[in-house]
Amino acid sequence: MRCAVLADIHSNLEALTAVFRDIEVKGGADEVWCLGDIVGYGPEPAECIKLLRKFNPVCVAGNHDLGTVGKMELSFFNPAAAQACIWSAEKLGPEDLQYLEELPQTVQKGDFLLAHGSPASPLLEYVASNSIAEKNFSYFDKPYCLVGHTHVPQAYKQEDDKVASISLSSGIGLVLKKSRLIINPGAVGQPRDGDPRASYAIYDSEGSIFRVYRVEYGIRATQDKMMQAGLPVSLVTRLEVGR
Ligand code: ZN
Repeated sequence: MRCAVLADIHSNLEALTAVFRDIEVKGGADEVWCLGDIVGYGPEPAECIKLLRKFNPVCVAGNHDLGTVGKMELSFFNPAAAQACIWSAEKLGPEDLQYLEELPQTVQKGDFLLAHGSPASPLLEYVASNSIAEKNFSYFDKPYCLVGHTHVPQAYKQEDDKVASISLSSGIGLVLKKSRLIINPGAVGQPRDGDPRASYAIYDSEGSIFRVYRVEYGIRATQDKMMQAGLPVSLVTRLEVGR
């Protein structure tokens, strides 16, 4: 079985469309797993929910999804992010708001736990260091955990009670074996590792290979839509540098 793993779409329809096109080019996927933050930051929240839901995804809630529907206090967000949450809420109809509201915090799928932030704190914590990863290995029972939230493609491997980090380059396969792992596919809609291309992954259960891919998309088109929407300029400019 092949699963496309998407995180942090952030209302970036140009990026999401390019990713789904790339998935088709790579042979398609049987399932789509989404690690949260469908909305927030970007200009097309309703369009992104609509496109994603065509694929009947397994999806967990992100902090921006819940900030947008009023299930997380906006004091948890920086001012630009909070402004984008308020703007997004105005763009969504009742059905979309209900969809976001009802997303679960974690989902178990086969050998994986899916969470947005971390297994210990699914909405808030960033798994961004070996020590944070180390703590989190005791918060899930499955062999592997998939997270988003940092917007950086990266894996943490637990081996002999030590944790090592592994950066995930485009097209290089990570073979899942006995070692437990926490894996982040990077962000579709707002990458932060210095590479502005959209990031996502395909997990192929045959051979147990997890592979991140980077995809060019119309960054300028997304930026134009954000400017037209009056979204904060800091959110517009960061897309082209991938930070
Ligand atoms: Zn995010």
